[in-house]
Amino acid sequence: MMYVFDVDNTLVASSFSMTDEMAALFKAFVGDHPYVLSSGSDLKKMKTQVPADILENAYALFPVMGGEMWVNGEMKYQRTFTWPEGLKSMLESQLEASDYEVRTGEHIQDRTTMVCFSTVGKAATPEERSAYVEYESIAQERTHIADQLRRAFPGLSITIGGQISIDISEEGNDKGQVLAVLRKEYKGPITFFGDKIYEGGNDYPLAVELEKETGNTIVKVQDWLQTRELMMSATRLVA
Ligand SMILES: [Mg+2]
Repeated sequence: MMYVFDVDNTLVASSFSMTDEMAALFKAFVGDHPYVLSSGSDLKKMKTQVPADILENAYALFPVMGGEMWVNGEMKYQRTFTWPEGLKSMLESQLEASDYEVRTGEHIQDRTTMVCFSTVGKAATPEERSAYVEYESIAQERTHIADQLRRAFPGLSITIGGQISIDISEEGNDKGQVLAVLRKEYKGPITFFGDKIYEGGNDYPLAVELEKETGNTIVKVQDWLQTRELMMSATRLVA
């Protein structure tokens, strides 16, 4: 049996690092089972959130929605996003037109496998993120921008990601692609933990692929605290 975990909000608080207690619990829980981490963030961000030994001992890491696969510090697979004509200028004008005044930098990130857009900017601190989330809850800025992008680029997948960004990628560049890559080598049953296993959530495409097979287990969690609870009960049973 293999474990696959989403990272943000499933193993850690969104954008925060794994607590020491959670790291110890994680290791006790996975035991000798191979495990995979699958995140919407890039590897650089993953490294700030997950302790190095947990990353090193993983069977594989799938950052950027599975657009990359890393094994033992080496990139084994990478998907490339092709910029359609007019996308960049549309993002630039959206940025200029946004009523939200705070600009922190890294607004249009080309992550090779996908593009990440944020009016407040990916360089925002946790406080700046929270302030944007509050603004967003009323202004619905990302929903409006995403609608316009979908109309202009019907061939792209446009999703609202994390707290402050819009993820732009080619159709099929979602966590669902993780399974096909894994299945080239690993044929056993998989248990998947994710916090966004609902239609439109970024863990959903992988859950859908896993459910097409028999023998896999899907674990929907509310947040990382619930994962912590589940891991605590499971390791208590073993002990
Ligand atoms: Mg998540």
